[in-house]
Amino acid sequence: MAGNLNVTWIHGAPNCAISTDPPIQIHRFDDDTFILRQSKCSEPGTAAHPGPSYEAPFMYLLIGTTKALLLDTGASQSPAIFPIASTIGKLLHGHANALGQPTVSLLIAHSHSHGDHVAGDDQFLGIANTSIVAPGLATVKAFFGLPRWPYGMTSIDLGNRLLDVMPIPGHEDSHIAVYDRNTKLLLTGDTLYPGLLVVEDWPVYVRSIARLKTFVDANPVSFVLGAHIEMTNQPGKWFGLGSLFQPKEHVLQLEPRHLVELLDALVVIGSHPRTDRHADFIIYPAGQPSPPLHP
Ligand SMILES: [Zn+2]
Ligand SMILES: [Zn+2]
Repeated sequence: MAGNLNVTWIHGAPNCAISTDPPIQIHRFDDDTFILRQSKCSEPGTAAHPGPSYEAPFMYLLIGTTKALLLDTGASQSPAIFPIASTIGKLLHGHANALGQPTVSLLIAHSHSHGDHVAGDDQFLGIANTSIVAPGLATVKAFFGLPRWPYGMTSIDLGNRLLDVMPIPGHEDSHIAVYDRNTKLLLTGDTLYPGLLVVEDWPVYVRSIARLKTFVDANPVSFVLGAHIEMTNQPGKWFGLGSLFQPKEHVLQLEPRHLVELLDALVVIGSHPRTDRHADFIIYPAGQPSPPLHP
């Protein structure tokens, strides 16, 4: 089965109280690859931020013959409103049953350590054949064996499925990219996606994008897939921070040319970080005023 992105993602609702969206949308990209999106209506409010949250992150489940990788666990802790562990369990059991094989073990890692990508971790505690790379630079470096961080690369084998893992800090200091040699998908988390690319550490981010570009120059990439959508389907226009309803979203997938465009822009900007709007993403140094919705 060839990979496909023929999907309309759930994208929030004008009124979450009457939304019929599932808490987690599951899209089967190919036989062994699932892309999941958390609903904007599934997330709990807090005293400081009442009502649903807005992150609606994407999560990736890549299944090999001996192991599966879940990259990211979403933005909510509660299984009652966001049943990520039971959803992944059902997918793995269903996949194994269809093949008449035992269920593979599950490895959980994260694109990076921000709360909207790790909040579901605790739901997996105590589940058999499941291990979690604890979020944070020290544990990520140690688990993947990347002592020269942010330099160096490593690969992990899911069984007939090799993944390359490379450090790409800059949005967050433990950020990784994952490349799947089977599907040629490049998973870029919050470092590159159709939205506001928040750069916490500018020079570190620029060097990460340059290394990623070098990798892409040497390896075929089908799609560049990040962890959020914040752009609309109109060039340069985004939904703004905190939007709960995103009709006419940009598609999830970007391409290698977007990485080229990003690196070119970073080089032009140089060492004086500034916001820079593009058709499919907005480069945004952390701490600057939020850019207007329209170009
Ligand atoms: Zn982030
Ligand atoms: Zn995020």
